Amino acid sequence: MTVTAKPPLKVLLASPRGFCAGVDRAIQIVERAIEKYGAPVYVRHEIVHNRHVVGRLKAMGAVFVEEVSEAPEDRPIIFSAHGVPKTVPAEAKSRKMLYLDATCPLVSKVHVEAQKHHDAGREIVLIGHAGHPEVVGTMGQLPEGVVRLIETVEDAEAFEPIDAANVAFVTQTTLSVDDTAEIVAALQRRFPGIATPHKEDICYATTNRQDAVKAIAEACDVLLVIGSSNSSNSVRLVEVGLKAGAGAAYLIDNAAKLEPAWIEGARIVGVTAGASAPELLVQGLISRLAEDFEVTVEEVAPTRETVTFKLPRVLTA
Ligand code: SF4
Repeated sequence: MTVTAKPPLKVLLASPRGFCAGVDRAIQIVERAIEKYGAPVYVRHEIVHNRHVVGRLKAMGAVFVEEVSEAPEDRPIIFSAHGVPKTVPAEAKSRKMLYLDATCPLVSKVHVEAQKHHDAGREIVLIGHAGHPEVVGTMGQLPEGVVRLIETVEDAEAFEPIDAANVAFVTQTTLSVDDTAEIVAALQRRFPGIATPHKEDICYATTNRQDAVKAIAEACDVLLVIGSSNSSNSVRLVEVGLKAGAGAAYLIDNAAKLEPAWIEGARIVGVTAGASAPELLVQGLISRLAEDFEVTVEEVAPTRETVTFKLPRVLTA
């Protein structure tokens, strides 16, 4: 009997990848709330955009709803990492519910910026994607119609403020760094005095994951991104990978979604994960590749992360 040797395959593993500090905090808030208050604990919207994470928390006793009105008054409710419009905590308060806010502190920072611009009388532009919960939450910090959404360079060119000398912009935290730079450049050219964020609103985790993908993309025949299709930062990683030179790029929930045809003839495969995807799924994908190939893994880490966020005091006391 002849044993056919597996073909070699190099895996370039992007780092950092997967969970960011905001996702880690949001998941811990749900876990600790279940521990402290018992099940069920209600969560408004997917706590983070990852099916695996949501499924695990459901099994522990979390109940996911889309609106506060779907939860009973006598159980705690948690708001997701993406942030919520001001009307949401107001509704929970009016129903005398116990609520915990898992909004990522970096999203809250954007909410504060938007409020400050509004207080200073500036017209506010939000660069982001229509319908994403973070965008809905940021726009909902201020009265309806106050924040104008810009999605593309064309939108930036077409935007007509009431007073061109009194405009400010903020951004969604999980955008493509390069695409956003083009939109910002268009705004700055048209409105040279536009108030800009003190520090980039695109968060450190988004930036670092995109930089790590850029570092490996050109060498990759195929780039595999673990993440759910409704995860903004995961979708951006696929786009960034393709723009940076990957031969092909696919977003997959887990190893079971891998199509063998994608990697037929590939010598180098890049692997990364969006900020809401657990490392367990990355390791599962590598094990899956090792079934068909003689895999060697090389980790490429242009930056190291040390960021952590504190949990709400009510859960740590
Ligand atoms: Fe916070 Fe950035 Fe993570 Fe979103 S991706 S939860 S903004 S750290």
